[in-house]
Amino acid sequence: MSDYFIELTRANTRKAVERAREMRPRVRPVSVSDRVYDVSGSKGATYTVRLAAGQGRLLGSCECLGAQGGKVCYHLAAAAGVAIGIKAAARKAVAR
Ligand SMILES: [Zn+2]
Repeated sequence: MSDYFIELTRANTRKAVERAREMRPRVRPVSVSDRVYDVSGSKGATYTVRLAAGQGRLLGSCECLGAQGGKVCYHLAAAAGVAIGIKAAARKAVAR
């Protein structure tokens, strides 16, 4: 496990988002407040993804080899997609 965080930008996340759409990994929130998610991998593995947001930036870490090498993997993209969805839903709930 690593605390190596990668900044997710539009440019480096686009391919990972496409891959996430193909792979359709399961994303299970471990802690929504701490932004920790378990994401299923291609071979039945589960990877823990951690997200951190601040100052308009979104950072993420994943246990898989790709992310250890500094790449935005589809686990990160999938977890970020769910996290953004939860945030949007919470904002809607507050606005109501
Ligand atoms: Zn990963």
